[in-house]
Amino acid sequence: MGDIFADRVVVGSEDRLAEMFGGDLGNEGIKFSAGNPNAQFFPVTEMKQAFNHAIEAYGNQMFEYQTVSGFSQLRRQLTTWAEQTAQISTTPANILLTQGGQQALDLIGKLLLNAGDEIVVEAPTYVGALSAFDQYDPRYYDVALEPDGLNLTQLEHLLQHHPGIKLLYTVPDFHNPTGVTMSLAKRKRLVTLAEKYDFLILEDTPYRDLRYKGKQLPAIKSFDRQGHVLFVSSFSKILMPGLRVGWVVADQAIIQRLRKLKTSSDLETPGLVLAALEQYMEHNDLKKHIAGMLPTYRSRLEAMLAVLDETMPAEVEYTRPEGGFFIWLTLPDAINVQKLLNETCIPEDKISFVPGKVFYAHKDQQNGIRLNFSGVSEEQIKLGITKLSNSLRQAIML
Ligand code: PMP
Repeated sequence: MGDIFADRVVVGSEDRLAEMFGGDLGNEGIKFSAGNPNAQFFPVTEMKQAFNHAIEAYGNQMFEYQTVSGFSQLRRQLTTWAEQTAQISTTPANILLTQGGQQALDLIGKLLLNAGDEIVVEAPTYVGALSAFDQYDPRYYDVALEPDGLNLTQLEHLLQHHPGIKLLYTVPDFHNPTGVTMSLAKRKRLVTLAEKYDFLILEDTPYRDLRYKGKQLPAIKSFDRQGHVLFVSSFSKILMPGLRVGWVVADQAIIQRLRKLKTSSDLETPGLVLAALEQYMEHNDLKKHIAGMLPTYRSRLEAMLAVLDETMPAEVEYTRPEGGFFIWLTLPDAINVQKLLNETCIPEDKISFVPGKVFYAHKDQQNGIRLNFSGVSEEQIKLGITKLSNSLRQAIML
């Protein structure tokens, strides 16, 4: 059987995403392993109306084949959104609508990566991006993350020694899995480095509008002078992941090629969904919807930080995010996180988290834990994190 599959399937055969979801907690368990937005916030009534409006506005045409270059109104709405929320000035022709940010990552990998091409990723990084890029068999280089984002000294050193590096993938806002945000100074410097060493930056930022404290920063793309930055965002975290709508902002030469690849793959994102989103944006205030979610997410973040401060053993370090969904714990090297999860946290404590190694291109670092705070109540946070702290304390003492 093995011989019938293409090389890329064999190369990408490690199922990085599936590894994230191991372990059954049953009903009474507390899941810190999730990554999805809170379904209680889904604007179902408004979306129902938006679908109705779409059918009324477009009639039969709604159920026809669409063209990838269609939906110029939604793309126009997104240029305003990009300007207002990310300080990016762009045009509808510079935007491609995709099926979630995930499809954008896959298409960009397909567009840019030959087998063996050199790409830089953060260590740790978003596992879904690794799983998309894996298919194109690139050569990964890791760069460490600091509390203010990528270590640019390390990056520049790498660029000096590997002039073939083509692409850098970064999640600059409330990073998945660490929650870290790249500073303003680093954003500007990163663009300068891309110009100097001639590589592209893939800025993937589905969480950027979910800021609970501090000041919003301009996107890396806003500093782009020569077309080095591909900006990817999504409606999954701020609205509903089931819509499967994401978008790319890039130079037209890139957008045109991505569009061709998307057409070859799926012809188009379902037109009904795009038209409903367009109507939703037209008749509702998306900013207000987001603002309505922030207090709950903010309290959960603060609750988690407070219990961590109160109960975690001193040997454990953790990030202090200002938004997004995740906090990252760094444990002493000697602790086997996977074993702790499988043998203590899931069966005894009835809590789950994502073990850090899945977020590394080379899976060589074992001592991280990703905790989700957005999908758990404050009571669950208190109970679950206290249990985790106790189990970690015992593991450290052993
Ligand atoms: N990028 C990052 C950093 C993510 O966390 C996610 C979702 N977990 C995605 C992209 C893809 O999301 P979607 O396809 O739902 O837009």
